[in-house]
Amino acid sequence: MSKLKIAELFYSIQGEGRYMGVPSVFLRTFGCNFKCAGFGMPKGQLSVEADEIAEVVHMYNKYEELPLVSTGCDSYASWHPSFKDLSPMLTSDAIAERICEILPHKEWHNEHLVITGGEPLLGWQRAYPDLLNHPKMQGLREITFETNGTQELSEDFKQYLKDWPWQHKDSFSRELTFSVSAKLPCSGEKWEDAIKPSVVKTYQDIGANVYLKFVISTEQDFEDAQRAIKEFRDGGFRGHVYLMPVGGVESVYALNNRRVAELAMNSGLRYSDRLQVPLFKNEWGT
Ligand code: SF4
Repeated sequence: MSKLKIAELFYSIQGEGRYMGVPSVFLRTFGCNFKCAGFGMPKGQLSVEADEIAEVVHMYNKYEELPLVSTGCDSYASWHPSFKDLSPMLTSDAIAERICEILPHKEWHNEHLVITGGEPLLGWQRAYPDLLNHPKMQGLREITFETNGTQELSEDFKQYLKDWPWQHKDSFSRELTFSVSAKLPCSGEKWEDAIKPSVVKTYQDIGANVYLKFVISTEQDFEDAQRAIKEFRDGGFRGHVYLMPVGGVESVYALNNRRVAELAMNSGLRYSDRLQVPLFKNEWGT
């Protein structure tokens, strides 16, 4: 039976992108191919705040106890090795059971499944079919992969996802989405490593809904996003594009959400809020 290293598994409301406001199960896998620190931190290093937390990680037993950070990757504990012991390796059986425990009706109704990270399209691709084929997952109708858009799909997984909507007799209502949060230079990642139009096009080619989401903090980020959008469009990308304000904590988010909304309005792009910040203070498990 396949296993996944799970950083978090919780039930909340999707705060970002196309399915903002939709009740969703979030399955956060451990590990990422990037180490976005941003905000002047060298690539590969945690922000000063996250670094201090890593030094005393032994004081925490679960993710919900970890402090939030105001700079750098707000999912820092889902990829940094210092936090790996907080993420158990679970079988698809155990994950499906746990999902049913946290669903309000103890089975799927109209909830969405968000498979996020870290980067959820790393080697875990080989484990998803076992999980999605599990008897307790048969009521599931909508999945979003939240990815940084750099990972090729394996041939086996591509074929599985192509067939997923049609494997079930009520297939007409099934929807598969890739929410691609492509990383701009402010993340510290190299442009050619982070902006991969040909990879994102393959998500579209299997018949999924695909949209791009750019986190914007400065005018430079907006310029970089426009350059990236052009490369994605030139590469055949046809989906919607969202601009989203930076800020895992309210004090930072409130500084630029209105400006980012205006940039979106004036440039024919969509605005994505981060509902989890005002609603739940972006705590782990929300
Ligand atoms: S790609 Fe996402 S999860 Fe990975 S380090 Fe960057 S912001 Fe964090």
